[in-house]
Amino acid sequence: VEETLVLVKPDGVARSLTGEILRRIEAKGYSLVDIRLVQPERDLLAAHYAEHEGKPFYEPLVEFMMSGPVVAIRVAGDRVIEGFRSLAGTTDPTSAAPGTIRGDLGRDWGLPVQQNLVHGSDSPESAQRELSLWFA
Ligand code: ATP
Repeated sequence: VEETLVLVKPDGVARSLTGEILRRIEAKGYSLVDIRLVQPERDLLAAHYAEHEGKPFYEPLVEFMMSGPVVAIRVAGDRVIEGFRSLAGTTDPTSAAPGTIRGDLGRDWGLPVQQNLVHGSDSPESAQRELSLWFA
């Protein structure tokens, strides 16, 4: 069965949306395999976001992700990688479709990084790499 890494980012935890996000994952029929509350350090985030190093939003993104606890979840199900990204909605929460996590619960806050509540792995290779980082 396929697995993905879902993160409830610091904005989601601070806004007490962890339960709502877990509810949507479970209501879709996916299984929670493991879950932990993490205060991520820079090294973990640098590894997680290596592909974005050098981009203008990279440093604000890392600072944002270190600003508070993150909930890391190992989620399983057939085609869960694609399915969770569909549940999450597109990156920019202002234009994400209603019905999605970002579209229903997120908005723009005028900051240099999109505070968009969740992360989901984007391929089987990313999922394995990211799961081994967050569930080392
Ligand atoms: P994630 O990987 O977190 O699920 P994503 O795949 O939709 O999100 P990526 O392109 O991987 O987006 O970017 C990672 C994160 O960096 C985004 O979720 C967002 O928080 C931030 N980000 C991406 N692009 C921008 C941008 N142009 N301006 C500000 N922040 C951005």
